[in-house]
Amino acid sequence: MLDVLVREDLTFADEVFRQAYKVKLAYVGSKVYLRGIIEFSNFCQKNCFYCGIRRSNDKVNRFCMTDEEIIQTALIADQSGYGSIVLQAGEKSDEAFIAFVERIVRSIKKRTNNRLGITLSLGEQGQDTFRRWFDAGAHRYLLRIETSNKELYCRLHPDDHNYDVRLNCLDWLRRAGYQVGTGVMIGLPGQTCEDLVNDILFYEKHDIDMIGMGPYITHKNTPLAAASGSNTKKNFKLALKMIALTRLRLKDVNIAATTALQSLNPQGREEGLKVGANIIMPNITPVKYRDDYELYEGKPCLDENADISKTCLEKRIQFIGEEIGYNNWGDSPRFFKRNKG
Ligand code: SAH
Ligand code: SF4
Repeated sequence: MLDVLVREDLTFADEVFRQAYKVKLAYVGSKVYLRGIIEFSNFCQKNCFYCGIRRSNDKVNRFCMTDEEIIQTALIADQSGYGSIVLQAGEKSDEAFIAFVERIVRSIKKRTNNRLGITLSLGEQGQDTFRRWFDAGAHRYLLRIETSNKELYCRLHPDDHNYDVRLNCLDWLRRAGYQVGTGVMIGLPGQTCEDLVNDILFYEKHDIDMIGMGPYITHKNTPLAAASGSNTKKNFKLALKMIALTRLRLKDVNIAATTALQSLNPQGREEGLKVGANIIMPNITPVKYRDDYELYEGKPCLDENADISKTCLEKRIQFIGEEIGYNNWGDSPRFFKRNKG
């Protein structure tokens, strides 16, 4: 794997991409599953050194969508055949927030007759909170490890963050019954190709169901951007290689072609699908909130709309010879195999 990441020879990379695509077709097929992502709040108690909505960035206009705004967006996603949504936000862990999320998840499940699959991406929480949200109806959870190198993790976060807590959370999520998703940022300052190989081995060791990884992209109002830049072209290629290698190694997991990939290249998500990804997460957050959810600079404020028929995504996917799996949760085959066995 290290060889693939280090070598810059394009023919070699193309061959790896072709192999990864074959493995994808054999293990998860050519259907692309959608998760409409609703970024419903940018209040965050954390201060990650790389993130644009970190607590100490006082240039951010903070917002939180109302219950009804979130539910209405979810209902449009359901009517448009998305099959699943992701509810993502900055991290908060007060009781009011926990109850708010619990209430929303319950309402969405009720009002869609359990049709819409719900993934949460709300940072680190306590074991009880994970359970409450699972009992309310969420069945998948995304919590990126960001980097599996503990020492690098410590350099990217202030002292009140703890790598071991994050690891425990992944374990708690599994025990609560979720399909567990994690991932890393690619091209972080100080990250080596060895670290990236270890990230893939980390997914394997923790038997992860879903992977969401993307290039690291700077945000000017963050300490990490001030300390160093990022090489976007190199990070884009590295991210594609990471998708391909993860597919080759883990085979039957879900892998997302992320928004960060698309911000570096308008065709980024399709390229991700061509090298092994099988999930796309269209942003269905109401347009008026999108500017304020800027995790990194240049995050696309696309014309994507909760009503999929109004977007060109379908055509773009058909163009690469694949089709959208409408009205389907698109769970990872790995999760089912584990639970059968
Ligand atoms: N607060 C939650 C969810 C929102 S952040 C959490 O942290 O889990 C979602 C993801 O955005 C993070 O896991 C991180 O990997 C990614 N992210 C944040 N800043 C980024 C940047 N500058 N470049 C690329 N990805 C970034
Ligand atoms: Fe908050 Fe998540 Fe950004 Fe960290 S990455 S500052 S937890 S929104």
